[in-house]
Amino acid sequence: MTIPPQLWSFTEKHQCFFKFKECLAADQSPCGGQIVRAHIISRSQLKQIARDGHVVAVPTSLLAIMKMQRTEFEAKEIGVGDFSTMNCFCAAHDKALFAPIEDAPLVCSPEQLALLHYRAIAAEFYQRNSQLESAASELDDESKDLQNLRFVWIAMCNEQASEEAHQALVRTEMLIAARRFNELGSLVVRFDAVPAVMAAGAFRPIYDFAARRVQRPVDFCSFVAMHLLAADGGAVLAFTWLRRDLLAEQFVRSFAALPREQMASLAVQCAFEHVEFACMSDSWWNGLRRSMQAALLERVRRANSLSYRRSPRCLCYRIRYADWPVAEVH
Ligand SMILES: [Zn+2]
Repeated sequence: MTIPPQLWSFTEKHQCFFKFKECLAADQSPCGGQIVRAHIISRSQLKQIARDGHVVAVPTSLLAIMKMQRTEFEAKEIGVGDFSTMNCFCAAHDKALFAPIEDAPLVCSPEQLALLHYRAIAAEFYQRNSQLESAASELDDESKDLQNLRFVWIAMCNEQASEEAHQALVRTEMLIAARRFNELGSLVVRFDAVPAVMAAGAFRPIYDFAARRVQRPVDFCSFVAMHLLAADGGAVLAFTWLRRDLLAEQFVRSFAALPREQMASLAVQCAFEHVEFACMSDSWWNGLRRSMQAALLERVRRANSLSYRRSPRCLCYRIRYADWPVAEVH
């Protein structure tokens, strides 16, 4: 497959917006060292599902997405060092802020959950902001052609998303600085199964697991963070939200109300529907039937399409992707 030269230069130019280096930490301590490629899912976590240093995931770079939009979406092996990295913290802040989740085993303590939530929201803000700058750079105030309208629309959507994410980021930052971890709601589900899928990200749910509307795109400000990780050798799922945010809580409650035997499959389904950084072990992915792989890849393809309108039933149970028994819901 060949990419037309104008698309290459367009994509190359826009890739740089996603490598913008800035530290998002806003606490009192000064930045130190260079901006590092911070992992949204830490290496120590990824290693637990990796084979020969690689996990399996659908690539998320703009260039990869644009290529796949012309061919088909597929999962590939990606090195643990390259997966889920973002240039949004300086070395000093990355080390100091995230020590409780990077240097200690994950036990889902209130502090660890707050830091995971914070990092996921920071990543969401960083991505939306990069997309905003990328689209804004293409805008031509004089032009009324369709391509320009498309950029106006992308810029508008991302401007709102970026502002909302920034507010959520600031609120989370204040909560962490004051150690008021009880202001963060959480639902933690432990599975009696080895970890096979990992995901980390924050998103604005539109429909919940019972096909009820959570929020309309115009008042789209409730964020939920989702983490599917490994704790104590088993798979663990954590949803977190700011407690004052009742719509986010409604979304998570609809998950808690699910039959337990559907929870693992719906966690996987939700990760592919909403979370940018999702990866899996080679054995789990290749153990899925072709049709199941195709259904998950189709979710990623749609999520990357400008014209995608979610169906109310996008998070309703359809396919048994995983049969991990639930050990505990907390
Ligand atoms: Zn910094």
